[in-house]
Amino acid sequence: MAHADILAGPVSEALYRRALEAITGGVNSPSRGMEALGGGAPPFIERAEGAYLYDVDGRAYIDYVQAFGALILGHARPEMLRALDEASRRGLLFGACHPGEVQLAERLRQLFPVCEKVRFTASGTEAVMTAVRLARAATGRRVLVKFEGSYHGHFDAVLVGAGSGASTLGLDESAGIPEGIKADVVTLPYNDAPAAERWLEAHGRDAACVLVEPIVGNFGLVEPVPGFLERVARAARAVGALVIFDEVITAFRFRPGPVYVELGVEPDIVTFGKILGGGLPIGGYGARRHIMELVAPAGPVYQDGTWAGHPLSVACALATLDLIGQDAGLYRRLDDLGRALAAGVRDGAARRGVPLVVHQRCGAVSLFFTSEPDVRDFSGVRRTDARAFARFVRAMLRQGILLPPSPYEVWFLSAAHTEREVERTIRAVDAALEAVLD
Ligand code: PLP
Repeated sequence: MAHADILAGPVSEALYRRALEAITGGVNSPSRGMEALGGGAPPFIERAEGAYLYDVDGRAYIDYVQAFGALILGHARPEMLRALDEASRRGLLFGACHPGEVQLAERLRQLFPVCEKVRFTASGTEAVMTAVRLARAATGRRVLVKFEGSYHGHFDAVLVGAGSGASTLGLDESAGIPEGIKADVVTLPYNDAPAAERWLEAHGRDAACVLVEPIVGNFGLVEPVPGFLERVARAARAVGALVIFDEVITAFRFRPGPVYVELGVEPDIVTFGKILGGGLPIGGYGARRHIMELVAPAGPVYQDGTWAGHPLSVACALATLDLIGQDAGLYRRLDDLGRALAAGVRDGAARRGVPLVVHQRCGAVSLFFTSEPDVRDFSGVRRTDARAFARFVRAMLRQGILLPPSPYEVWFLSAAHTEREVERTIRAVDAALEAVLD
């Protein structure tokens, strides 16, 4: 990939040079780097509003990254800013119990059927880390079963065979993970129910839990094939292992709550984060009472956090739930826009003869440059054309459309996107597909 093909403007370039000196790799999260696109400076963002990001060089971008799935209401929504402003006037951090966290927990109990109790953390990573610890304590077993290419945060056990940003850099196996931790993690192919059943039948008596994204959002958007989640859950329960659904990406993305309600399979423990915080950091987990009562101070499983239940995150979460709840047509609109976008991309690819598979559910869209009929697992994504992907995303960026800079990340629409943005995007896709063929 030609590095001369500079994407960012001069102010971003200069900031990136400084960042490379002061911040390892120039980024605070590897997912934000341009490595998968051949390198170079990413645009540095000055402000965001609605469906747009504006960089320090004065360029506007239609934003389909949506903070890697953490946003659904659009940037800088006035109601959210008001909620944040009002909360901050009462103080930034109490280090004490406060009314908002009780209200938020009560509302989540109504939205998440298995959650008789919840706990808040500061991030999705912490939520999943504690959920796994809780499952190990509840079962008295060691082994964590999970699926290839999924991403569940950045604690040791889930970085064994991890997807998302780790896959982008070829770091499916992060350095620094002790062999003892790897020995207690089993990674199986997603969407292969027989493989999971075979493993669980043979070795499942050591399994504490099966951790799964009910719809994958970390090697593109990949939905479970019919029966996959049901069969995995049944096989896990048959050997006494708990089922953890990691809904850090999926909760509130497809409906006003967890997606498992729509899929018809219930977990024993569920984790959430991202969208709930409305732009502020949050995570959490919940389960039935007898499991949650194992968490300290009620029980012996320790989870703590200076930032857990942060008053500003909680205020933004309550405002997010209000805004989602008040907008009865939100998910229908996102689905209409998602369908239009996916159809436009498919048409463009068919016209130009570019082999492309497009997945879409509601406002989430994923492109796979492949001649295979479909992509159902991580190995399928691995076989996609990384060069075509990089050319495409760079060509989109040049036209003011910001896509996730990794073939493993999903495009997200928000409440602020309209037909106008989608039509502009489809026109840009046409030109970008030509760049793929060059
Ligand atoms: N679980 C899933 C499914 C995720 O996609 C992510 C982050 O992308 C996490 C957990 C980790 O969340 P956080 O980045 O808030 O630590």
